[in-house]
This record gives sequence, structure tokens and C-alpha cells, in this order.
Amino acid sequence: MPRTTTRFDVAIVGPGPVGAVAALAMAKQGFRVALIGPSIARRDGRTVALMDGSWRLLTELGVTQRLSDEAAPLATMRLVDDTGSLFRRPPTEFKAHEIGLDQFGWNVETVTLSAALLDAVGDEPAIARFDHSLSDLRADADMARLNLADGSVIEAKLVAGADGRRSAVRAAVGIGGKDWQYPQAALTTIISHSRAHRDVSTEFHTRSGPCTTVPLPGRRSSIVWMVTPEEGARLMALDDAALAAAVEERTHSILGALQVDGPRGLVPMGGLSVERFSAPRTALIGEAAHVFPPIGAQGLNLGLRDVAALVDAAREPDPGAPEGLAAYERSRASDVRTRTGAVDALNRSLLSDLLPVDFARGLGLLALDSIAPLRRFVMRQGLTPSGR
Ligand SMILES: Cc1cc2nc3c(=O)[nH]c(=O)nc-3n(C[C@H](O)[C@H](O)[C@H](O)COP(=O)(O)OP(=O)(O)OC[C@H]3O[C@@H](n4cnc5c(N)ncnc54)[C@H](O)[C@@H]3O)c2cc1C
Repeated sequence: MPRTTTRFDVAIVGPGPVGAVAALAMAKQGFRVALIGPSIARRDGRTVALMDGSWRLLTELGVTQRLSDEAAPLATMRLVDDTGSLFRRPPTEFKAHEIGLDQFGWNVETVTLSAALLDAVGDEPAIARFDHSLSDLRADADMARLNLADGSVIEAKLVAGADGRRSAVRAAVGIGGKDWQYPQAALTTIISHSRAHRDVSTEFHTRSGPCTTVPLPGRRSSIVWMVTPEEGARLMALDDAALAAAVEERTHSILGALQVDGPRGLVPMGGLSVERFSAPRTALIGEAAHVFPPIGAQGLNLGLRDVAALVDAAREPDPGAPEGLAAYERSRASDVRTRTGAVDALNRSLLSDLLPVDFARGLGLLALDSIAPLRRFVMRQGLTPSGR
């Protein structure tokens, strides 16, 4: 028997963090929203540092209020050149108060954030949840038609593809792109430590990529350690005591004696750059539109700026009208490409042991350290697209 077709203003494919925020934000604008796809949240020691602009957006959507005491502020970010380079600089520190803030943002376990987002989605009557995956998408000038794996059919004026790096939406509308791999994997875990972190996140830049400690509430921090895939497999096989000792050595015991205090995960590192961010009736958001390594806490923050730009471009009575999608395309082009390029360049400069590359990186950090307006500009760029 043919299934009935349900109509919405906006269909969002992918209930990950970016898709869930997009659903809440579109519902707040008065649109009827379908949020499509199974929610699979795995505890793997991953946390996400949400910068000030992202945190404010989540507060407006009633999400941060659901995180109670599970997020920790990031008041200082410290970069330590641990590459052994000839042009090594002393540690560079960025303090939130230099740009008039109490903190740059907040760090929270990714599964905790996802649970809070899906709770908020469940409480929003304008959002209908569909648990099955997208299997097919067709769009014409007036409407998009989505077929789900259980046979249900949805029609919407705008489709937001928030279905991650292997986006079925992107493939269905024929948006090409370039993806690449790095000879790296990110080991993630959570540690408890004998010394207080004092709300400081420290990024040690090493020859295999950064190893970063990020504060969590109490004497706990998350670790994102970029290593070769072989080293990642070796670390994953260690028992908790041996892994804690390895992290303590890598982080020069700045947090004192460590214990592993959570699950762990290993994520292969890659990048993705798309040729366009939109197609008729369709926009790509989050990792469907851009992927890069976790350096400087950029990925989800950029995804939430995609959401803000799409909500801005979506107008009653037709949120998927061509002029709105053209505005979305313009707004994403420079923000996404600048950040993807900057993170890629920094990551590759760490992997390279060519002297001129080392010199350029050392010079960049020196300039950041010593030129006050440049420091403030870069710090603000970490928070908002325009540095406002
Ligand atoms: C180690 C690590 C640390 C990070 N730290 C930070 C940080 O501190 N700050 C930061 O801003 N970013 C960080 N990031 C990046 C951040 O985690 C990602 O940008 C973010 O999780 C991407 O969210 P998303 O919703 O776009 O994609 P995903 O989380 O991949 O969600 C995609 C969703 O789509 C669903 N889906 C897939 N296919 C279909 C289909 N056919 N139909 C329906 N649904 C489908 C999936 O089930 C999933 O729910 C980090 C990343 C890593 C790897």
C-alpha cells in the first residue's frame, strides 16, 4: 500500500548536533520541521568546545540550561610548540579577558550535548522526528521529495543536509567535492588529574599533530591527541594505567598525576571541501559541508554558524526560495574556505620538518604573541565569523 506523504516547511536530514540545532532554530522561526534519521550516540571520550557565539545560540534555544553542571568554561588557551623545531617559540597564551569576555566558551562531552539537544527537540511541538534514514531525494523548482528507508515520503520547501561527511543528501543533489586523508588519527579520552586546570586548555604542537587538554568540571579534562594511526592502535591497546602514564608524559605532567576517567576512541583524520554549499531546494550544513582536523575547536562551531546563516536566509513563506539559497551560498563561501584552509595549513606545517615551514610557523606564533591588535583579532575570529 502506498504511504501517505507528509508536508513540511523544512526537512533536516541527520539528527547529529548540527541537524538538531538547525531543527530547533528553524522551529523557533515558526517553520514546521521534519528531523530525519536515527540518532546514534556513542561514548568515546569526545568533548566539544563550544565558543561564545555557539553557546549564546544554544542558550537562546534553551539547550545550555539542560547541561546544568556538565560544561566547564575555557578562560585561557595556551599553545606550546613541542616540535623540537629550531624556531621554537615560548608558550603563547590567549586570555578571554583580553577581548572583554569571562571565557572563550564551554567544553562538554559530545554525548551529553547530543542528549540535551534531542531532549529539547522532543519538547518542541513544531518538530516531527523520523527515525529512518534517507534513501532518496529529488528536488524540482517548487519542492523537494524525500524517501525514507521505511517507505515514508516527506515533501519540504527546503532540505538541510546535516548528514555528516558521507552525506547522502550531497550525493543525491550531485554536489561534488574533494576529500583527503591525513597520516593521523585522533585519540580521545577523559582524564582526572591531581592539579587544578584553572580553566586553561593547552595545545601541545608535536610532529604528529597537536595533543590538547581541555577542561571539564572539577579536576577532569578531555584529551585529543593526534598521532600516527599505528601509534593510535598501540595507545588504544594499553591498559588505563599505561595510557594515563603516556598522556602524562606527552603533556609534561602539567596537570600532575593522571588517571583515565572515561571511555576512549580513535578517529582517522581527514578533510572535505565541497564545490558548492547549495543546490535547488537544498543546503549543506555541518560536516556534510566541511571536515577538518580538530585543531582550535573549529568544526562544530563552524557548523553552528552554517545553521545561523541558513536560518537568516530562510524567509516566510518559502524558506527554500532561490534568493535565500543564493544568500546562504555567499555567506558560507568565505567563512568555510578560510577556516578549512587555515586548519589544513597549520596541521600540515606540524607534519612537515622543512626548515622554511617551521620558520613560518614560528614567525606566525611570534607575531601573535607580540602584536596586541593581531592577537585580539585572531581571538575574536575564533568566536565569530566576522570578529564582531
Ligand atoms: C576528536 C574530535 C574532537 C572535536 N572537537 C571539537 C571541538 O572542540 N569543537 C568543535 O567545534 N568541533 C569539534 N570537533 C568537530 C565536531 O565533532 C563535528 O564538527 C561535529 O560533530 C559534526 O556534527 P554534524 O552534526 O555535522 O555531523 P555528525 O555528528 O556526523 O552527524 C550526522 C548525522 O547524520 C546521520 N545520518 C547519516 N546518514 C544519514 C542518512 N542517510 N539519513 C539520515 N541520517 C543520516 C548520522 O546518523 C548522524 O546522526 C571535533 C571532532 C573530532 C573528531
